[in-house]
Amino acid sequence: SVASHQLRTPLTGIKWFAQFLMDNKAGELAEEQRDYIKQIFISNERMIGLVEDLLNVSHIETGQKFNIDKKQINIFEVIKEAIDDQSVMAEKQKVKLALSSTIPKKLNMLIDKEKMYQVFYNLIDNAIKYSEERSTINIGCKRNNHDIVFYIKDRGLGIPKSQQNRIFQKFFRADNVMSSDTTGSGLGLYIIKAIVEAHGGEMWFESAERKGTTFYVSLPKHAIPKKEVESEELLAIAR
Ligand code: ADP
Repeated sequence: SVASHQLRTPLTGIKWFAQFLMDNKAGELAEEQRDYIKQIFISNERMIGLVEDLLNVSHIETGQKFNIDKKQINIFEVIKEAIDDQSVMAEKQKVKLALSSTIPKKLNMLIDKEKMYQVFYNLIDNAIKYSEERSTINIGCKRNNHDIVFYIKDRGLGIPKSQQNRIFQKFFRADNVMSSDTTGSGLGLYIIKAIVEAHGGEMWFESAERKGTTFYVSLPKHAIPKKEVESEELLAIAR
């Protein structure tokens, strides 16, 4: 935790100065120079993400500062924002993100907005990272007796059967992704599972190697304010 905090300040410094250079604040850059600065910026962003992850892990493990600040939030908007923020990555990887109409546009739930954003952002990030080119990722929801279940379904590498029981362990990355040219820390799923559980929900997945993976996030229905439960749109997914 202390190390992560100490690393944050200089990394933020690098971020701003790289940004200044990219914005030509220290004079016009040649194309090659701009490319190099961009690489510095991207690598630094990755480092900032990693430091944030380590800080998250330390908060989860000590139980300190892992606060869930629940408010009534439109979860559709949260998911939409995560999808929009991943659209450049999706384009780069040539995959399509398809948001199903099963998620009501006015689904208010009692959630921590930033943390649930992190959950969806991370799952979509993984789905893109481990997808086959030109495939589609479906994002939607369904309902069972007590919960609303969101799903993110990809047609990608899948997770080897023999390693499926280790997928939520911190730092774990399966063999098949280690041999692909993807990068990752193996911390994402560990963190977001803790976030979902802190909301009273659960996370699980179904996967077949070389066919694809579907991650599920359930949130208890009681997280939906009463008057929302009676809304037409929600009743429609309840059927
Ligand atoms: P990272 O993606 O940074 O390695 P995560 O904690 O997000 O870390 O995921 C842990 C591991 O779970 C991944 O390294 C990969 O082996 C597997 N995994 C997660 N999501 C998917 C997916 N959509 N398809 C295939 N494998 C996945």
